[in-house]
Amino acid sequence: MNLASRLLVITGLGVAAAGAGVWATGATWEDISHLGQPRNVLEIEGQEIRVPQAQSSGARLAPAVAASTSGDHAFLFEEDGEPTRYDPCVALAWVHNPEGMPAGAQGLVERAVADIEVYTGLVFDFEGETSELASFDRPLIQDRYGERFAPIVIGWSDEQETADLAGSTAGLGGSSSVTGAYGDQRFLAAGVVILDREDLADLLEEPGGLERAESIIRHELAHVVGLGHVDDPTELMHTENMAAASWGPGDRYALAVAGAGPCQ
Ligand SMILES: [Zn+2]
Repeated sequence: MNLASRLLVITGLGVAAAGAGVWATGATWEDISHLGQPRNVLEIEGQEIRVPQAQSSGARLAPAVAASTSGDHAFLFEEDGEPTRYDPCVALAWVHNPEGMPAGAQGLVERAVADIEVYTGLVFDFEGETSELASFDRPLIQDRYGERFAPIVIGWSDEQETADLAGSTAGLGGSSSVTGAYGDQRFLAAGVVILDREDLADLLEEPGGLERAESIIRHELAHVVGLGHVDDPTELMHTENMAAASWGPGDRYALAVAGAGPCQ
């Protein structure tokens, strides 16, 4: 099949929002500044786990990007009219599982992450390779990553392993919406990007395929930072995007807003 004429669908998944509860006992000294303010808990695999505290200096790591454009845009999670976002005062840890990565794709993921940093003002921190299979069923907190939300994981799969990649779907991306450690602020955490190794391998053999493959990864990373799909085909966040190779004005606005969330 000629991929140049084939529709590649890139899909965003909003991951189930984790609920807040109250942890009654077991305050540690880090909690003293929040005395009288119960720490939220998450239920993960049937166990109540205290929401990790942000290791934040209270200041942004990089300047916010001016939201100076306008156009069609959407956010995956909104609460009281505000999008749910990553905390811009901590680095967004990410890991890569290169298992199954197509030949010629080396560098694509790093370039796409660097691009998202530029347009959001968020800082990503590459922690290395992982053997974790990228999946939306991943636990939000895992022993392998310690007592914190799991880093963003980017991995390669196929439609046998990941049913949502069936047909022309070339990638999936999203994050979980979780409560902060205290109060009722919500943040994104534990993002996932799953790339279809077969679709992208085919695409990389096409003229211009490298650029289009990078656009797919950028689209999925935009879902990770909270962007949803739009109807305007000139935006990279169009549902069945293959027309746009670069961010449209609505994309750029939404990426700037996605990076301008509150510190925890
Ligand atoms: Zn999508």
